[in-house]
Amino acid sequence: MIVLHNPSGLLHSTVELLGAALIPALECPERITAILEALSSSSSHTIRTTNFDLGDNDDPSHSQSSSSSSSLVSLIIATHSPAYLKHLSTIFQTWLSAGLVVGPDFCILPECFAVPRPDPSLPPASEPKDVYARVGYYAFDMSSGINEYTYQAVLGSANLAVEGVKLFGGYCYVNNAALAITAYRHLYPSTSTTSPSPKSSAPTPIPTAILDLDFHHGNGTQSIFYQDPSVLYVSIHGRDDSYAEYAQLLDTAIARIRQHGPRFVVVSLGFDTFELDPLGKFGIATADYESMARAGWEEEE
Ligand SMILES: [Zn+2]
Repeated sequence: MIVLHNPSGLLHSTVELLGAALIPALECPERITAILEALSSSSSHTIRTTNFDLGDNDDPSHSQSSSSSSSLVSLIIATHSPAYLKHLSTIFQTWLSAGLVVGPDFCILPECFAVPRPDPSLPPASEPKDVYARVGYYAFDMSSGINEYTYQAVLGSANLAVEGVKLFGGYCYVNNAALAITAYRHLYPSTSTTSPSPKSSAPTPIPTAILDLDFHHGNGTQSIFYQDPSVLYVSIHGRDDSYAEYAQLLDTAIARIRQHGPRFVVVSLGFDTFELDPLGKFGIATADYESMARAGWEEEE
């Protein structure tokens, strides 16, 4: 397996509010370290380090550069709001410049949030000028802190879900599943009767699918593709099943995806389903993950 690792993720150490206590965020760099150690112990995996040059060319409002990092930013912009990305890339320094306080953890945590409009036909509330309010305008919970390295870390790290296209929350800032689908469509924009071809001119998007195995529902991923019948989103989340029960749900999910006939499948593989994980409640043991992988593989065979 080829593994892409963004070392900036190791710098994204934040805090969260849980049970009225401010604690080190449960989604933490130590998870990356543990995964890298496990992957490094096997010769089956190749770990490639990705570095994104965050110079002026990576400003979300200047995405025309041909560098690989700017290509990535262009793809992110195709899936997310440019104003939101600009916010992620600037808010920490703006906060400091305004003389606002950061804790000993050197991290900002949103503390006030925009009230949803009762009438969806009303235009959304505009971005607040006040820096303190602006942090919450782009967030929906108190688990996702912002530090000096957040923007750098989320470009190419394994974050899962954002609400719609302009909110961070649930430890997630940029939607990598949506990015992968967008990148695939960029390469293969329409259907083909044989193999996907960049030259195909048929108007129908190639069917794709996302299998979300994180403990939490991928609310952002679902929201982004909710109106798009070519992208099937299937999620198993938020229960406290044994692995036997989980395996049945997984079989159902795989059958549903096969029915859709995707040419490209993204698996959002959150390991907070592990039986000892502090975030999830599924009873999935280490050996069960091999069974999960085989379930999909043997279906393919
Ligand atoms: Zn999760």
